[in-house]
Amino acid sequence: MLRIPCPWCGLRDETEFRYRGDATRTRPAADEGPEAFAAYVYERDNPLGWHVEWWLHVAGCRQLLRVVRHTVTHEIRSVSDAAEAATATTGRAR
Ligand SMILES: [Zn+2]
Repeated sequence: MLRIPCPWCGLRDETEFRYRGDATRTRPAADEGPEAFAAYVYERDNPLGWHVEWWLHVAGCRQLLRVVRHTVTHEIRSVSDAAEAATATTGRAR
């Protein structure tokens, strides 16, 4: 079983979380057209190796987390709060 170290609650079973998708995808701008938005909504990669994902701790603190996980071994390299991850990426607090 996958166990995720939540920064707020500690090490927890995967059953307490809900996978919320690929954290590397960015929503297209409105002027990019319907094809870009359809690709954003429906097209998914199936990466082999390290992957950045969103996980929601639904049975715990209910925080959205940014998890770096290996898709084969399920080893977790890092877990951070989504707001901190957004601040680190954009330089702006949400
Ligand atoms: Zn938590």
